Amino acid sequence: GMPSAPPPVLAPRRKTRQIKVGSVGVGSDYPISVQSMTTTPTTDINATLQQIAELTASGCDIVRVACPSADDAEALPIIARKSQIPVIADIHFQPKYVFAAIEAGCAAVRVNPGNIRKFDDQVKEIAAAARDHGTSIRIGVNAGSLEPGILKKYGKATPEALVESAVWEASLFEEHGFHDFKISVKHNDPVIMVAAYEMLAEKGDWPLHLGVTEAGPAFQGTIKSATAFGALLSRGIGDTIRVSLSAPPVEEIKVGNQILQSLNLRPRKLEIVSCPSCGRAQVDVYTLAEQVTAGLEGMEIPLRVAVMGCVVNGPGEAREADLGVASGNGKGQIFVKGEVIKTVPESAIVETLIEEAMRIAEEMGEA
Ligand code: SF4
Repeated sequence: GMPSAPPPVLAPRRKTRQIKVGSVGVGSDYPISVQSMTTTPTTDINATLQQIAELTASGCDIVRVACPSADDAEALPIIARKSQIPVIADIHFQPKYVFAAIEAGCAAVRVNPGNIRKFDDQVKEIAAAARDHGTSIRIGVNAGSLEPGILKKYGKATPEALVESAVWEASLFEEHGFHDFKISVKHNDPVIMVAAYEMLAEKGDWPLHLGVTEAGPAFQGTIKSATAFGALLSRGIGDTIRVSLSAPPVEEIKVGNQILQSLNLRPRKLEIVSCPSCGRAQVDVYTLAEQVTAGLEGMEIPLRVAVMGCVVNGPGEAREADLGVASGNGKGQIFVKGEVIKTVPESAIVETLIEEAMRIAEEMGEA
């Protein structure tokens, strides 16, 4: 058939310089990438590689590993070589690990200049080593570790303080002709974070990595990140994202991917259109939606599945979806591409939807 038009987005991407993080392009010419960070001790190479494999399988594009000690730095060459996705070494305090990570073959190094004493003395060598190895850099400014002089000037981590710090640190690399870096200015308050990124986006064409730092446990962190990223991404700002949750990193990837899919910045996969239920519901919508979601988890095809509690909006929504059910009178009308294909007893709704989804997936695979 006719190739379909790309789905609409809210704004064109802000034009940025392009960089490479290993095989992944970062900047406005490339899709927005999703990152997470391992929680295993980096010295435990097998556990770290196992977690990276899980992250890769869940749709993570780039992974960051902490490198707080010499033992961690020693683990980097194997991790960088065996990881299926580019590895960024996360370095605070110790410039020597920056060099170790570059030599280890990490795709990129995250430096937090606020946490490296006499950082400006080191930049020339870092830039030279990074250039020699094709390593890119992330300048990661963080509200919790602002450079002391800037903190003193502003009193606290205001958007202006974060941006001044970032622009100054960028200039240190640029002075040496090094431009292969992206910048983040993270804060735990979405309002300050959004204001900082908006301001930073006006000041240069650097690719930007978005993050709300210490966003909290899954529920709060998901909402804080989605709200803040949504405000920025809907204006075209942001080239990579990391959702920080006090939860396993695979959860961060699921949330990150869902945020991008919601804004049509990444192709939508499984989408459950389920009603909130109300006094008219003739079926337990929550359980039904949960069971259908669980049964279809991991489906790789774009599929809109409507789960509706009654016949008021049910048939309408179910018809718009690829697949759907409208329930009533202890039965479910099963719709495929707008046609009622069968009516099944309530107890068979979930299995029927899953069967039909598999059948559609197979057809799409064959097409
Ligand atoms: Fe209520 Fe029916 Fe709408 Fe669900 S589909 S919210 S049960 S009216």
